[in-house]
Amino acid sequence: MKSLTDTVEVLSGVGPKRFQALNELGITTIEDLITYYPFRYEDLAAKDPTEVADQQKVTFQGIVATAPTIARFGRQKVRVNFRLLVGNESVMVTFFNQPWIKNQINADEEIAVYGKWDANRRSLTGLKVVGDDSDIKPVYPANKHIRQSTIQQLVIDGLNQYQDIIYDVIPEQLIDRYRLLHRLDMIKSLHFPSNDAKTRDARRTAMFEEFLTFQMGLQIVKSRNRDENGIAIDYQINLIRDFIQQLPFELTDAQKRVTNEILANLKSPAHMNRLLQGDVGSGKTVVAAIAMYATLTAGMQATLMAPTEILAEQHANNLAKFFKNFDVKIGLLVGGIRKKVRDEMLQQIKDGDIDIVVGTHAIIQKDVEFNNLGLGIIDEQHRFGVHQRQLLREKGVAPDILAMTATPIPRTLAITTYGDMDVSIIDQSPAGRKKVITSWVKKGEWDKVLEFMTREFKQGHQAFIVTPLIEESEAMDLQNAMELYDELQNFFGEQHPIALLHGKMDGIQKDQVMTEFKEGKYAALVSTTVIEVGVDVPNATLMIIQDADRFGLAQLHQLRGRVGRGQEQAYCILVADPKNDVGKQRMQIMVDTNDGFVISEADLKMRGQGDLFGKQQSGVPEFKVGDPVVDLGALQTAQIDAGKIVSQPGWSKKMEYRNLVNYLEKIMRINQNLD
Ligand code: ADP
Ligand code: MG
Repeated sequence: MKSLTDTVEVLSGVGPKRFQALNELGITTIEDLITYYPFRYEDLAAKDPTEVADQQKVTFQGIVATAPTIARFGRQKVRVNFRLLVGNESVMVTFFNQPWIKNQINADEEIAVYGKWDANRRSLTGLKVVGDDSDIKPVYPANKHIRQSTIQQLVIDGLNQYQDIIYDVIPEQLIDRYRLLHRLDMIKSLHFPSNDAKTRDARRTAMFEEFLTFQMGLQIVKSRNRDENGIAIDYQINLIRDFIQQLPFELTDAQKRVTNEILANLKSPAHMNRLLQGDVGSGKTVVAAIAMYATLTAGMQATLMAPTEILAEQHANNLAKFFKNFDVKIGLLVGGIRKKVRDEMLQQIKDGDIDIVVGTHAIIQKDVEFNNLGLGIIDEQHRFGVHQRQLLREKGVAPDILAMTATPIPRTLAITTYGDMDVSIIDQSPAGRKKVITSWVKKGEWDKVLEFMTREFKQGHQAFIVTPLIEESEAMDLQNAMELYDELQNFFGEQHPIALLHGKMDGIQKDQVMTEFKEGKYAALVSTTVIEVGVDVPNATLMIIQDADRFGLAQLHQLRGRVGRGQEQAYCILVADPKNDVGKQRMQIMVDTNDGFVISEADLKMRGQGDLFGKQQSGVPEFKVGDPVVDLGALQTAQIDAGKIVSQPGWSKKMEYRNLVNYLEKIMRINQNLD
């Protein structure tokens, strides 16, 4: 039986070599082939020079007015020139480096030429002579092993053989509501465009199809989590209120909002799988403390897992402060503790004598058993895999999970990549926090930077200095950092000692340097590695980032967030000589704003630009047609529709979703095994 999952090897002309070349383009199956859409179209319909804008690509049809001449110039460069009478205008046409064109052009004959129009010089740089086939020509992303025409021929063959089994994936009702095309029509319209309006509808349909199927995948996971019985944490609200009352500050509105979202989740018997997102310094820890305290008031335990020992320690200390007037027992469980101490602690955790366990991945080791775990919190969740999240979940019967991240993900990304989680966002900083003053200097102005550093050191402040990661070689990174370290040591001498932190050091060594820096032993810390996210050094007021244009915006923002955590005014100095406009724009954004959300949106948009196929490395899933940033509205619509479908009892057995289910199982390989 034919299936769209058949490999393209079934088509004639696809042998092992061509199959390999197709694979490189991401084409393995017939489905891959027929959805391998053109990334643009050339409009070959003839136009009149009067209606064409400068530098536009266009086709002119006319009579060849002068016989073509061939001229050589430069080294091995060739130019073919002739005049074309288009309507009333004589246009100069020039083809570069296609000498054979001369033989295709004869005076007094009528031809059509596609090229780029220079409106001022009234000349056309010819790209090709147009035949009498279709007016709109698809252009596919191809590679050097495979030609445009081959792809097109394979698409034709594939469609001929398989078109009778191409069914609508989008439910009929949605096709009607959004005036979309049926699937076969959509596929044909994209590969063999007839007119602009139709092509636009086809694109809209293809985009909705991929957004809808993607969202279905997420919603299925989400609903499965929801149906898996969680625990209702029956907390005592009055005790929680008392706890919040006695905090040394008032919660921001954003903190109140996310706290309510989390508390509602804890109380419900449904399983919580929530992402708490908030910029550095937005105050996630206290929200975590409230959630943990709520769990304790229901007689259950809570745990907080951080990616490094130093972060775990920091959390344990902060929690101890929050709970100093409460009868809450906190245990710190990290890798390097003595066996005797550890055994004792494990026993206490098992007996329920420890209420809150703070630690590293040491928490998810096999022999750690909780008495009654109600809530597991993961800090800096991107540092942990899904697997580790799962292991944490298995430490209790069905504990609720709260993952925290300081990466301000634009809403788009939140929907697309974390669609299986609920998202709470702290989009506000505690009042009175001073903004980090950011400036951008050229490398030639390093003296000024040294001067500024000296000034800060004299006031007893500390500085972070980050040197860039040069991808090609770790040795080079280290050398860079070493040189700077030496230079600074010579410059500042014993009066202001400098420390070095680099990627070759092991975790314990790094922790030690960080701890000593935190204790004030050094004036500055030179670091190759991205400084541990989340580490608080309140006395550090200066962040200097060398070759700042080599870092992503999100990363720059994270680095800057390392300072400005105390009462003093903090500064960030970006040292960079960016080579292009985008680089300059990025520096300027950092200077202009401290808002992580603004920065991450800008980051996404800039990455999107200048990247022809929209391949992004920001963690946004790749789509063939839609762009999650530009087409956010459609993505949200698809999410709502997917949610509605999945929430219908027995939906996967319904006739109207038969093809959709089939597509999800066969093409997307989602085993949804529902009801
Ligand atoms: P992050 O979100 O980066 O983890 P923290 O939770 O470490 O931020 O909070 C940063 C600092 O702000 C801490 O010293 C914390 O006590 C303080 N803080 C948190 N919430 C508030 C608030 N509502 N008002 C004033 N200070 C706050
Ligand atoms: Mg934090």
